[in-house]
Formats: sequence, C-alpha cells, structure tokens
Amino acid sequence: MSDYQMLREAHTIQSLRDFINDNAVRPCTIMEVCGTHTMSIARWGIKTMLPDQIRLVSGPGCPVCVTDASMMGTAFSLAQKPGIIFTCFGDMLRVPAGDKSLLQLKSSGSDIRIVLSPMDALQLAVENPEREVVFFAVGFETTAPLTAATINLANQKQITNFSILCAHKTMPAAIKALLPGSAVDALICPGHVAVITGCKKFQFVAEILKRPAAVAGFEPFDILLAIAYLIKDIKENAAHLYNCYPRAVDDNGNITAQEIIDQVFMPADGIWRGLGLIKDSCLSLRDEYSDFDAVKKFAPEPVSISDNPACMCSAILRGESSPEDCQLFDKQCTPEHPVGACMVSAEGSCAATYKYMRRKAK
Ligand code: SF4
Repeated sequence: MSDYQMLREAHTIQSLRDFINDNAVRPCTIMEVCGTHTMSIARWGIKTMLPDQIRLVSGPGCPVCVTDASMMGTAFSLAQKPGIIFTCFGDMLRVPAGDKSLLQLKSSGSDIRIVLSPMDALQLAVENPEREVVFFAVGFETTAPLTAATINLANQKQITNFSILCAHKTMPAAIKALLPGSAVDALICPGHVAVITGCKKFQFVAEILKRPAAVAGFEPFDILLAIAYLIKDIKENAAHLYNCYPRAVDDNGNITAQEIIDQVFMPADGIWRGLGLIKDSCLSLRDEYSDFDAVKKFAPEPVSISDNPACMCSAILRGESSPEDCQLFDKQCTPEHPVGACMVSAEGSCAATYKYMRRKAK
C-alpha cells in the first residue's frame, strides 16, 4: 500500500471520525483558508463525515476569489492599452467584474494571453522586444516566490519591456483581520502557504487570537486529523497550534523562498474581496524594482466596477454564508457562466460545491 493509499485507508478514516464524534461536545464553526482545502473537503465529502454540530466554512483562501473588482478594473484598463500583451493565469481570464471579463476583452481584440508561469510571460517579452508584456501576478506566499524570481531575472538581464500588475496577497494579515469578532471557533491553516512561511507563522492564531489552529495537508486523513485536534481543543477550552502536515511543513518554512520575496517585495495595504482594505496584507515591488510595476509604468485609468449585488461571494469569503445560500447558485451562476469570482476557479467555494456537492445542495 502506498503512502497516499494509507492516507485514504477506511479503517484510519473511521477511527478519526469516531474520535471527532466522541469529542464534539458543542456546536462549533471551523474555517479553512486554503482553496485546495476547499476543493478537498468537497471532493472527499468531509462535511458528510462530521456530526451536525461541526460546521465547516470556507474563508478567503482562493487567490482568484479574493482579487477585488477594483484590481480587475485596473487589469481591464491595462489589457486595453495599445501595444500591451497582457498575460495571466487561465482562471483570471473568466473572473467577471461588472459586465466585463478579460475573456470578453480578448474576444473584442485585446491581446490577452494565458501563461502557466511568470517565466512564460518574461519569455514572451524577450520574443517580442517591440511590445510591452504585463503579467497579472495573483496568488499568496506560494506563487509570490516565482514572481519575485522572475522580476529578479528580468532585472539582471535588463529586460525593460516586462512588468507586473501585482495582486499578490499574504495570508496571516487576512486571518488577523477576519477572525476577531467572527463566529469562527478554530482554523485549518493553509498547508501550501505554510510550506513557504513555516508553521510558526500561524502561532499567533492560538497565542493572540486564542483560537485552536492546525496546519493540514490535503488528503482525507490530513483534514480529519486536523479537525480531530481542533475539536479536542474546543472541548478543553484550549488553543494550540498543531502541525498535522509534518511531511511537508516545518517550523521555519522555505527560507530561500522567503528571502527572494523579501528581496523583491515589501508589505503593502490592499483590498480583499469580502474583507475590504487590510493593512500590510499585500505585496508591492520595492523601489529598486519599481520599473517593473505596470501601474507606475502605464498609469492605467481608474475604472469603477461594481459586483453583481445578488452575488454572495463577499459573505462566503468571510465564512458567513455558504454557496447554497446564494439565490443564483446553480441557476444563473454556473462554472460555464460564472456571475461571481467564487464560481470561476476550481478552488472557489461555489465551484467546488457545484462540482462535488450540487445534488445534495438541491
Ligand atoms: S453562486 Fe455565483 S453569484 Fe452566488 S455567490 Fe457564488 S459566485 Fe457569487
């Protein structure tokens, strides 16, 4: 039996379910803040394995979902400038903002191209010296190191027709802003982000915010083990940080990745969809690299965009609502025709619910 088969082994899973059932002594809400956890929880039916008094909610863990309408407006503005090749990950192409999306702009003639990494965008810049190439840099601590390495390389090679629209965000500041005053009793910390930051970066959740927290992997065993620890703490009115993903996460994280982020970026205030403006929760380019800042380079006109008022993405990203609460879910809003950002990425709460749990939701 492989390691991964063991992580899905029925007997082990049942033991964890039994422990959780026996120790869930009061109603509680547990939030996950990682899009891959959102997807895994839906895919493996984790909610159906838990007693009714444990409520699992999604937080602001999907980078596509938390990119707000004003940032999308800036992207639209840049993508429509003559001479620019605007590049982004595939998911960003379909994010609706107001009555537009990058996909619609592409259909109307803007030169917008999907890339798999910022290095691909940099290569486009090398191959098209007469054009300006802009990369829409979206993601958390997991993707920021590669963007930083790309900027560093562009700087070393003096590639001057490359820049980024920086929408990188960092998770701890969002958690600090969201948890106090929320109904969330405990947190499943993001496993991928913790690989980069280290487990200790989330110590504040237990020590300062007084909520139990567990860094978790993405197999059913990983997620149920994290929930078991959290339920035990809730029962005992305790708040510890647990590393339930030691095969990938250590205390201090990936120092090389942290150093390249620190070299190229600095913390900045920024807007999250659903959470609003959060101090020091985003990354912006340091002054030495400001030539690669597309906003400084092209001064895109501000575009005012409002989300569909019926869309409940904001409440879902705060853990206050579930996709099934939205009147548009599986009606006007589907993955083929997303009305809001949470229906676009596979890691979005609405898309994951649609794909794996729709029949139950009806
Ligand atoms: S179902 Fe669609 S419209 Fe409703 S909250 Fe989700 S993304 Fe928004």
